[in-house]
Amino acid sequence: MPGLIQRTELKTFYYTPVHCPFCGVRVMGADPEDETRITACPHTLFIAHDTAFEYRSERLDENLRLNGLSEREIKAKWNEDAGGIDGFTDKISLADAIKVAAYAPAPSAYGSYYGFAPVE
Ligand SMILES: [Zn+2]
Repeated sequence: MPGLIQRTELKTFYYTPVHCPFCGVRVMGADPEDETRITACPHTLFIAHDTAFEYRSERLDENLRLNGLSEREIKAKWNEDAGGIDGFTDKISLADAIKVAAYAPAPSAYGSYYGFAPVE
């Protein structure tokens, strides 16, 4: 049984662009024309912030049993989690999965979350 996803937090350098630890792809802000564009590599499990998932991989949906649920039902699932989307994605159990949680300083308290795991 793989353990739970390992967490890394960025609190001081929260604005540092996040790259996949397994292949080096910059997953967000790589496109100078559109910095909000997501570039998911094969290792990307999810990209999210406090109010929504920006990207969910099939592996994530399988692991958190979101398959077949509507977007509304998925939102209800992580809304019910005491930790919100951050706490919900802490429950991923895939071998050697890594999550980067980047928190903008108070009073904003805005979080961005990135999940990665190796592929076979
Ligand atoms: Zn990658």
